[in-house]
Amino acid sequence: MARVYNWQIRREMSYWYGESRPARQFAAVFDINKCIACQTCTLACKTTWTSGKGQEYMLWNNVESKPYGFYPLGWDVNLLDKLGPQRWSGGRFEGRTLFEAAEAGERVLGWRPEEIDYANPNVGEDDCAGAIENGAHLQVPHMAWFYYLARICNHCTYPGCLASCPRGSIYKRPEDGIVLVDQGRCRGYQECVKACPYKKVFFNPMTGTSEKCIACFPKLETGLQPQCFVNCIGKIRMAGWVSRPSEAREDNPIDYLVHVRKLALPLFPQWGLEPNVYYIPPIHAPRRYLEQMFGPGVEQAIDTYRKAHRDKDLAGLLELFGSTEKVVPRWKRKGELIFGQDEKGREIVRVPMTEPVVIRSRFDVAHGVVRTNCP
Ligand code: SF4
Ligand code: SF4
Repeated sequence: MARVYNWQIRREMSYWYGESRPARQFAAVFDINKCIACQTCTLACKTTWTSGKGQEYMLWNNVESKPYGFYPLGWDVNLLDKLGPQRWSGGRFEGRTLFEAAEAGERVLGWRPEEIDYANPNVGEDDCAGAIENGAHLQVPHMAWFYYLARICNHCTYPGCLASCPRGSIYKRPEDGIVLVDQGRCRGYQECVKACPYKKVFFNPMTGTSEKCIACFPKLETGLQPQCFVNCIGKIRMAGWVSRPSEAREDNPIDYLVHVRKLALPLFPQWGLEPNVYYIPPIHAPRRYLEQMFGPGVEQAIDTYRKAHRDKDLAGLLELFGSTEKVVPRWKRKGELIFGQDEKGREIVRVPMTEPVVIRSRFDVAHGVVRTNCP
């Protein structure tokens, strides 16, 4: 085992291979507060990549209701239970990562789902935590809660799937950090299925190989965001590139949200994979639950999000979500306008801070008709 630095847990940890970071790392920010669980992202991915034989059960992108939704069943709670209680101290993780807690003869602490565990991807959908007593009236915050968690492969900096593969079939692209399975090398041992804690590698029984989210790399290579991003109805997603904290740039939208404002947090950072999909946590769910899922930065992130309407830079940047099909590596605000730019600073998209509102008259003189959708 090598010693590598994981900035999300603020310490060195053991990993199967030495630290080798790509030229730039594919990353994403998902704003949980905006997701409506329409599953358009799920279908956009399904129809693009997993409509073949042996892929019927696969959802490279899925959206589940927390706390009772899972795909596959119990993916997170099974592992949390296996790992046992762990501890953060300040921003530093003092417990054991999945690599450090691996059982004798294993490279990663993991578990392999049964076929039936994938059978009900919408289990727990819209199920609330907390009971509503007879005669209760509405309170804010509400006594019952749930939220939608959209998930894809995290294209981790220290992938569990990659570490576990005995044939070296899984690799991380040096140019963009995307994690792929070499279909020619894979022999279907499924160690990766067991090792990925997010359960984002899938075995295809027809081809006898493992398959996973490829971050739509043919699109990314031409400057376009992946399918699940551009089809997102709630405009909750932004794709881009994340730097290490010491190299963070304010004009990089992902760096700004992750490092500068610390608004977007990784999923189960304590597992030690340095996942690269970052979440703006839901403001209405219990902090203890959220801290287990997103780490100790939850309180600060929610506080920042609640105040975002008074912060033109942050509010403006959040307006850029879903505004263009292209990847936006740079951004800036000028007065009431937010600009998305390419690497050379050329404009890709501009978005006003406030959308103009036009109130139309009930009778349309030009067409001589009465509009039914006006007051
Ligand atoms: S989320 Fe899972 S499949 Fe994706 S890179 Fe990380 S360990 Fe591998
Ligand atoms: S398309 Fe967007 S809003 Fe709809 S479920 Fe997916 S992430 Fe959520």
